[in-house]
Amino acid sequence: MTLCALSLGSNMGNRLENIRRAADLLENRAGKITARSEVYETAPWGVISQPRFLNACLLLETGLPPYDLLAETQAAESEIGRVARERWGPREIDIDILTYGDILLNDERLVIPHPLMGRRAFVLVPMLDIARDFVHPSCGTSIDELLAGTDREGIVRIVSL
Ligand code: ADP
Ligand code: MG
Repeated sequence: MTLCALSLGSNMGNRLENIRRAADLLENRAGKITARSEVYETAPWGVISQPRFLNACLLLETGLPPYDLLAETQAAESEIGRVARERWGPREIDIDILTYGDILLNDERLVIPHPLMGRRAFVLVPMLDIARDFVHPSCGTSIDELLAGTDREGIVRIVSL
């Protein structure tokens, strides 16, 4: 079994329901959720003229190898109704694999740790809820140190996941 950190985000449809459904689907098919962050409302990133997101993070203990886990996260995204749109644009659900144990992976389908996790406050703030002692597997930096380099303004705790 391997402990993974996943990021969930939604800014279309019933955002909270989409995030909760993603957690349920992952628990049914990908492993056991051992920690859930609070859910935060956050400003869009990249493409900024779009609705605000809800974001959360999970720790998942999985027996699936990395590419099988990716297949399950993508199947859950389709099931929740995500259709292909522009990169960083609006989406019903986005499930990103932040870390998979301590492994480092980098090819066209999967980059782990997720390359932008250390720069996105909407990932780091929920990660603080569930993995305060987290150390970034490739750069060795703590969440607090990473957060100090980001803009965390406008991130509002909404509800428990
Ligand atoms: P983004 O999350 O960057 O907005 P998408 O969710 O549309 O983009 O994912 C695009 C591609 O990113 C996926 O087809 C997947 O193969 C790839 N990818 C690479 N690394 C990861 C990762 N760590 N987690 C999830 N997807 C990843
Ligand atoms: Mg994604």
